[in-house]
Amino acid sequence: RDDKQNKNINKPSIRFNDVAGLDEVKEELFEIIDFIKHPTKYHKMGAKIPKGILFYGPPGTGKTLLAQALAGETDSSFFPASGSEFVEKYVGVGAKRVRSLFEKAKKTSPSIIFIDEIDAIGAKRTSESNNEKDQTLNQLLIEMDGFHSEQTIIVIGATNRLDLLDEALLRPGRFDRHIFIGNPDLRAREEILMVHTKNKPIDPSVNIKELAQRTHGLSGAHLSNIANEAAILAVRNNKSAIGIDEFNEAIEKVIAGLQRKNAVIL
Ligand code: ATP
Repeated sequence: RDDKQNKNINKPSIRFNDVAGLDEVKEELFEIIDFIKHPTKYHKMGAKIPKGILFYGPPGTGKTLLAQALAGETDSSFFPASGSEFVEKYVGVGAKRVRSLFEKAKKTSPSIIFIDEIDAIGAKRTSESNNEKDQTLNQLLIEMDGFHSEQTIIVIGATNRLDLLDEALLRPGRFDRHIFIGNPDLRAREEILMVHTKNKPIDPSVNIKELAQRTHGLSGAHLSNIANEAAILAVRNNKSAIGIDEFNEAIEKVIAGLQRKNAVIL
């Protein structure tokens, strides 16, 4: 029965190698890996292991991927959730979901709980009260204050808007480590394109470095999208490998999509 239960636990196979660029961020996370792998070393020294880490920055830059890689590197159980899924119409439902999430994570520790869009529950409280959201946030704070140091649980929250978050969430002992994850620079874009073309047949005339130069301002998610679009186009064009024509068209398509989206926002 235990075996069967274990099969249901999500243990990602993603490793830091699958995350391109972000060298400084990875460096910072090596410390967290050591905490998770050797907690007693820190307990003996009277050191507290961080409970909460915030990843903040623009969308599609690898926040989810990094959280999965952190679980993969430490053989931790991974519990993904999204802030928006906690906030329901009925008061108390979100709080109950938070409680049950932590219960499961405690049973399978070491665990990593990943809460995407944490601003959906963690935004600053306003005078206009929202009982459901406030109760959900309170429950999250209670859970984070409550787990013992022998239980290795790290909560990673992700947001595009650090400035929106309630101070209570950022206090020591809660989400007190903030890590910025930004859009990739030239070298990182090249590395991301390499990761996403690794298992695809690429025509030798395609110069990945040149593609990286032409994709300034795009995120890792956009670059992964370009590699995939190019592969689909190559199939459509009956090619045996992805050529520069397919990459050109894929880049145009992704950039055009972005411009349309910006036009709507403006
Ligand atoms: P959001 O803020 O929208 O939730 P995110 O920062 O969590 O986005 P991810 O979901 O991690 O972004 O990234 C989306 C996809 O983009 C990944 O599954 C991966 O394919 C690709 N990607 C993004 N960043 C990287 C990276 N640094 N290395 C490799 N692939 C990346």
